[in-house]
Amino acid sequence: PGVDLALWAEASRLREEYWGKNVYLRGIVEFSNHCRQNCLYCGLRRDNRELSRYCIDAEAIFSAAKAVKGLGFGTVVLQSGEDAGGDGEDVAKLICRIKNKLNLAVTLSLGEREVADYRLWREAGADRYLLKLETLDEDLYARLRPGRKLAQRLHSLQELKDLGYETGSGLIAGLPGERPGDLRRGLEFLAGLHLDMLSISPFTPAPGTPFAEALACGLAEIFNAMALARVLMPTAHIPVTSALGLHGDDVRLAALAVGDVLMPSLTPEAVRGAYAIYAGKNSGAESPKARAEAMRDLLLNAGFALPAGPGSAWRIERGS
Ligand code: SAM
Ligand code: SF4
Repeated sequence: PGVDLALWAEASRLREEYWGKNVYLRGIVEFSNHCRQNCLYCGLRRDNRELSRYCIDAEAIFSAAKAVKGLGFGTVVLQSGEDAGGDGEDVAKLICRIKNKLNLAVTLSLGEREVADYRLWREAGADRYLLKLETLDEDLYARLRPGRKLAQRLHSLQELKDLGYETGSGLIAGLPGERPGDLRRGLEFLAGLHLDMLSISPFTPAPGTPFAEALACGLAEIFNAMALARVLMPTAHIPVTSALGLHGDDVRLAALAVGDVLMPSLTPEAVRGAYAIYAGKNSGAESPKARAEAMRDLLLNAGFALPAGPGSAWRIERGS
């Protein structure tokens, strides 16, 4: 089956109604690829011995955040594997420094942590947190994330909401083992959580994982999922993920008819290739800065607007 054109048209109409031509650029800094989890789909999984592991220090993370600011973006996203060794206090200090010195909105995507860490980081000034549920099928979840349960992830998501984060979640489309109707059910469930952002990435096989040879999510499936997400959650921020961006600029621009966020990677060049969640992630010869600038030009040429400011959740932007 192809793209559902009626759904797509309705989703584009809603995107335009609520967000106009705006595209929100967030600079993502992937500061560590260490991970204690063993998700079958992800190249950063614990058992992937092919991957050389890195963790950049606070100074290097701050420099990358400065580059995000220099590009005129309003938000820095700090992402990493679920790093058991990562010290909550160090992350809190870094958040404080970024907030005080750079005045950027800070989004965290650091996986499941103790509520004490979530609280510490929120008090340090973090604005947003992204914790995807990946799949709403409990059995599939347990199989794909060994040792973890969907209920625990949901509990963490609720803790984040209760702490006042602008909260995002999402799914991976086309996961091996996904059944017809799973995505729709997942999106309907997420819509009931009244999230501020929703990210759906197309499953893309990763070397060094049990799914290295699995079939990637098709374009029609991810387009239909994004369109349905927009129809169910018209005011949510919906990124065009980097995995979808692998299909090139035309696909990225087309997806922005329903999505409204792009997150170029500003991870330092020396390590960015090792943030290998899936094949092709962070590849390419240009510097992160040159690529981010090229993306900005592409968007402006295509008639999109790049508003200054943090690009907060709808309820905050509109004061409702
Ligand atoms: N470790 C944290 C976590 O899992 O929430 C944050 C980093 S993790 C690499 C960020 C996201 O990458 C996950 O939420 C998952 O949706 C996505 N991801 C991992 N492997 C993927 C794959 N093979 N294809 C598409 N997306 C993938
Ligand atoms: Fe670790 Fe996140 Fe990858 Fe799972 S998806 S292996 S938690 S980095």
